[in-house]
Amino acid sequence: MSEQTQFDDRPWLDPEAEPFIQVSGVTKRFGTFTAVDNVDLQIYQGELFCMLGGSGCGKTTLLRMLAGFDNPTSGSIYIDGADMTDVPPYERPVNMMFQSYALFPHMTVEQNVAYGLKRDGVDKQEILQRVEEMLKMVELSQFAKRKPHQLSGGQRQRVALARALVKRPKALLLDEPLGALDKRLRAQTQYELMNIQDQLGVTFVVVTHDQEEAMILSTRIAVMDAGKFAQIGTPTEIYESPETRFVANFIGSANMFEGRITEDSADHVVVRSSDPACEFYIDHGVSIKEGSKVWVAVRPEKIRVSVSAPENAAANQLSGTVRDVGYLGNTSTYRVQVADGQIVEVTHPNQSRPRGGKHAVDWDDVVHLSWEPSSAVVLTE
Ligand code: ATP
Repeated sequence: MSEQTQFDDRPWLDPEAEPFIQVSGVTKRFGTFTAVDNVDLQIYQGELFCMLGGSGCGKTTLLRMLAGFDNPTSGSIYIDGADMTDVPPYERPVNMMFQSYALFPHMTVEQNVAYGLKRDGVDKQEILQRVEEMLKMVELSQFAKRKPHQLSGGQRQRVALARALVKRPKALLLDEPLGALDKRLRAQTQYELMNIQDQLGVTFVVVTHDQEEAMILSTRIAVMDAGKFAQIGTPTEIYESPETRFVANFIGSANMFEGRITEDSADHVVVRSSDPACEFYIDHGVSIKEGSKVWVAVRPEKIRVSVSAPENAAANQLSGTVRDVGYLGNTSTYRVQVADGQIVEVTHPNQSRPRGGKHAVDWDDVVHLSWEPSSAVVLTE
């Protein structure tokens, strides 16, 4: 495999690649309040990059600074190699799609899509052709003559997308693009968004507070907390190798055990916790001092639950009593109380049907929990 191919779909790993968006030391203050706190970020051409975080963490503020609607208090933003200081929104090579789609209610779908091109004085024939192409791409050709109120939420969302893309921006900034859609439509539209982005090769920067959406859509996710990035990585990296307790708890859920390092080598660590009494064997090193306080994080679906004790497992096992069972059909969630009273959450696929209405593991059962050395991560903060 040539070097180029190797980095094709992961340009952030390519030391030679120039970022399309380069944010350096950007801070935004509103009075004495710091909404975005000295962040650095590189986004590459063709990425579908999600900024994910709870309400008020600063993601919209950062997006607005990329679009040019707000200026950084300090720091710099380069887009496509050019310094964006003093460049107004309409002269930036990016377009922004707002949380509320803000379609013109009195215009038809095609008039809405054509609006920006018309305002820019694009030739009439070219407008017709570009609008037609774009409506075909978002599968709305048959609705060209309808007004926004005659469309479903998902269709309106696609009109807004067509309107933003018809101007052929090099990057599209999307603030909660699927926020107005119900769960089913949202799932379907996520895939449409990915297809369109893939076909056009436009860089998408998406702001969302929905972790599932970020996991499905993104090439990479930046998890934001209080104006800073807690971690930037691929969905797999963020989920499987969270770097902090905040990230581990923000994406999915994680059982957290506090303990101290008793053994640390290049390929494994041993952590001992006293409450609950347990030895954790983890198959990656952390290179911090023995005796240091750490947290061992184990995802609920990585824990096995059984009524009989697992054979020859010295480490990575706990026992407790099932306090709650959440039956979801395809999976069940068990909340197991272990020795010190801590509740450990376990999720299991339901591979066989319950016999005579009785589940294999039920309320008040005493159960054994165990997991593989590769299933846990050690966190230092
Ligand atoms: P949400 O998901 O709720 O939209 P967000 O992460 O997008 O949240 P921002 O809109 O970026 O959050 O706001 C970050 C913080 O900055 C918030 O505490 C907000 O109150 C504050 N803020 C945003 N705009 C202003 C402003 N113009 N003046 C003062 N404070 C502001």
